Amino acid sequence: MSNTLGSEQWHERAKKLIPGGVSSPVRAFTSVGGTPRYYVRGEGSKIWDIDGNEYVDLVNSWGPMILGHAHPQVVSKVSQAVENSFSFGAPGPGEVLLAEEISLRVPACERVRFVSSGTEAVMTAVRLARAATHRNLIVKFAGCYHGHSDALLVQAGSGIATLGLPNSPGVTAGQAQDTVVLEYNNALQLEELFTERGEQIAAVITEPTPANMGVVPPEQGFNKLIADTAHKYGALMILDEVMTGFRVSKGGWWGKFAATEDWTPDIFTFGKVIGGGMPLAALGGSAKIMELLAPTGSVYQAGTLSGNPVATAAGLATLELCDESLYDTLDLRARQVGEGISDALTRAGVGHSYQTGGNLFSFFFTPNRVRNFSEAQLQNTEVFAKFFHSLLDQGVSVPPSAYEAWFVSGAITDLDVERIIEAAAIAAKVAAS
Ligand SMILES: *Cc1c(COP(=O)(O)O)cnc(C)c1O
Repeated sequence: MSNTLGSEQWHERAKKLIPGGVSSPVRAFTSVGGTPRYYVRGEGSKIWDIDGNEYVDLVNSWGPMILGHAHPQVVSKVSQAVENSFSFGAPGPGEVLLAEEISLRVPACERVRFVSSGTEAVMTAVRLARAATHRNLIVKFAGCYHGHSDALLVQAGSGIATLGLPNSPGVTAGQAQDTVVLEYNNALQLEELFTERGEQIAAVITEPTPANMGVVPPEQGFNKLIADTAHKYGALMILDEVMTGFRVSKGGWWGKFAATEDWTPDIFTFGKVIGGGMPLAALGGSAKIMELLAPTGSVYQAGTLSGNPVATAAGLATLELCDESLYDTLDLRARQVGEGISDALTRAGVGHSYQTGGNLFSFFFTPNRVRNFSEAQLQNTEVFAKFFHSLLDQGVSVPPSAYEAWFVSGAITDLDVERIIEAAAIAAKVAAS
């Protein structure tokens, strides 16, 4: 067992002032028990906690650290930006360059607006969809997470799933009424809803491959069905690529998989990778819809720190290094790590379902394949907790929840892969016991 006294002391101190000691719920280790590690440094594929323990990182800040930690080229660009001031609250070249980069990678984004978090991007997308269609209803899928704005905090994934909350108190009945929740991968439910209420629906929002209830890939044609059904009834499709955008390919999920399937969402949301670890997110879409935003249109949206020069510098420097060869590396590392761990679990006789969505992956501790949130909830989270703690004690940091995706970075080495798989062999035996 590693020494974690420093983390324990800081966490006790944190809990006196910060609810649960954390700034975001999943970090508190509620579902796995134990004390969260207080990380103080990262370099490449590794991070170190305040007690000096070293970990190979398979969380990578839930995606943004796609190049690994403190990449020298990113650090240098961000340092340059910082020297010129942190913020002006005025337009700057950084946001223009980043908008151009996004539009180049995802041509369906004819216009881009920057915000500071994925939550904000999705909240704005929903407002925009309602304004564009003059309708109120939003359709989402159970287990998908789209940030914590009221309209979307109904049967959500991520922390809400980890804590087993159906909905959050504080969301009004009116808000909940305007959100219809369907089962993921259920074409029949989608078609029935549109037959009954199609004319009231402003938008369907979805993750292109849900990864906030663990990774649950869409069945063949499901995204296209969403797009086609919505469009047939004059509703919009919001594709929430906050997690997948520029992580699973140069053009995100849509850029990789939709080109051959022939579907296009009306509004995209991005976050995580586009800020390279700084608070930055965006929404994009057709000029016709996006120009409804103020000041060209009347849909209000704003932000003191939106398009911040330091954040856009981090995002740009990160995306500059996200080329085809990086995505090949990520795919390879994800396969090596994911399959290696799955083999270790199989050898130890731990029933599980290893699921992938591009280079995102996760393990459900249930023998059957998971296609939706109710099936995800059949898993044994106690087995996960044992597996998690054994990995952590051996210096492998993975998400502290059975309902989250795992993230590789381009900095992972062959040696790291070996170390992860060796740790997994031991952790799998612990999980089996
Ligand atoms: C992380 C995430 C969000 C929320 O982004 P924040 O920056 O945490 O507000 C929204 N949608 C998806 C798909 C996400 O993965």
